[in-house]
Amino acid sequence: MHNEIEKVLFSENELQEKIKEIGQDLTKEYNECFPLVIGVLKGALPFMSDVTKRIDIHLEIDFMDVSSYGNSTVSSGEVKIIKDLDTTVEGRDVIILEDIIDSGVTLNYLISLIKHRGAKSLKIVTLLDKPAGRQVDLVPDTVGFTVPDEFVVGYGLDYAEKYRNLPYIGILKPEVYKES
Ligand code: 5GP
Ligand code: MG
Ligand code: MG
Repeated sequence: MHNEIEKVLFSENELQEKIKEIGQDLTKEYNECFPLVIGVLKGALPFMSDVTKRIDIHLEIDFMDVSSYGNSTVSSGEVKIIKDLDTTVEGRDVIILEDIIDSGVTLNYLISLIKHRGAKSLKIVTLLDKPAGRQVDLVPDTVGFTVPDEFVVGYGLDYAEKYRNLPYIGILKPEVYKES
């Protein structure tokens, strides 16, 4: 598996250091609250798991799984809910955790949904941001790392459902795409 990676962008250590910082910041900011931390499946799972261990206050976790309708062409912004929250967000301080924001279409939909359901506050925390891909006006509140306009894998991020279990984030060798 590792020999299919051309370049490591963020090592396991770099990721964990950054996640520790993000966790410490959130601990301070939500000190007086009982935030609801929502992870967007499946990509945000490792980030969710590691960052929540660094948030040193009471919190509640929940998950959502969504998929965009249609194919690779410009999305209408329509998103299908595969798994909804178990929790009521009304009146809650909500933190959404994402693996990466590219076009922003998915998150844009989630933001409207959570606001519509009456969250008291909403914060968007993404491990990676790819601003070059943006199709909607969306600026996350917290970004771990900004990435170039390249397809990255690892630490939750997949290519054809593989590589999510890499402990680091990298770029695949071009021949991997040719083989499939
Ligand atoms: P968008 O912001 O375009 O609505 O979609 C974001 C989702 O697309 C991410 O949560 C992720 O699942 C997927 N995605 C976007 N860019 C990349 C990338 O570079 N690598 C991988 N593996 N997935 C990506
Ligand atoms: Mg995602
Ligand atoms: Mg994917």
